[in-house]
Amino acid sequence: MAHAVEIRNLHKSFGALQVLKGIDFTVDPGQVVCVIGPSGSGKSTLLRCVNLLEEPTSGQVVVDGVELTHRDVDIDAARRRVGMVFQQFNLFPHMTVLENVMVAQRRVLKRGRAEAERIAVENLEKVGVADKRDSYPAQLSGGQQQRVAIARALAMSPALMLFDEPTSALDPELVGDVLTVMRKLAEEGMTMLVVTHEMAFARDVADRVVFMDGGVIVEDGPAEQVIGAPRHERTKSFLRRVL
Ligand code: ADP
Ligand code: MG
Repeated sequence: MAHAVEIRNLHKSFGALQVLKGIDFTVDPGQVVCVIGPSGSGKSTLLRCVNLLEEPTSGQVVVDGVELTHRDVDIDAARRRVGMVFQQFNLFPHMTVLENVMVAQRRVLKRGRAEAERIAVENLEKVGVADKRDSYPAQLSGGQQQRVAIARALAMSPALMLFDEPTSALDPELVGDVLTVMRKLAEEGMTMLVVTHEMAFARDVADRVVFMDGGVIVEDGPAEQVIGAPRHERTKSFLRRVL
């Protein structure tokens, strides 16, 4: 079976700063992989390389059978297959919720208005905010905004969803609603690569947990092993600090 994501010997530097120092891993279709690790270890840079928001310095990124790092690839077409949800929700403030979820469908996928609206409403229902369709982002709680951001990504029918600390900017009482939506997506078989500090979520939902430190993968294994019985001292000391 082909991998959904394959990363081979990925390096990324910013000037003299080496941030990713040879990353190798794969995600299979339908798998949920959580990436954990200290601040500054390169987790966001890794995700940003997976959809080419950052250009890797060297190495290969293959998503859904398409090598994004190949110089002849149609980057825009390849990127459309990957949905991304950020810590800051990045909704368009001057558009309603419904417009936020329709705009890229219309402009990028060239879907007609009726189809885009139907798909938007379906996805807003899935994340539990369909009743807010005519509100503006500023009228929503952080948790509702983040669920709209998830609906917006899902409306593009991605093969893969990337989440970069999707609950880190939320008030504690709103975290659960977003994690519930992510759990549901995982159960439905969505392929997901999730950077998170939510260890309970990682332990319960992830098929694999990858621990990064200093731009390398220190440990990669089943969630119960990496979180429950880590093998490396660096993983143990990180977990002691966050658990
Ligand atoms: P994490 O998400 O694990 O906290 P990041 O991937 O955001 O780590 O950052 C890793 C390192 O790369 C940090 O030292 C950060 O300052 C640096 N970095 C990230 N993006 C850039 C950039 N665009 N230019 C320069 N340095 C960057
Ligand atoms: Mg980060």
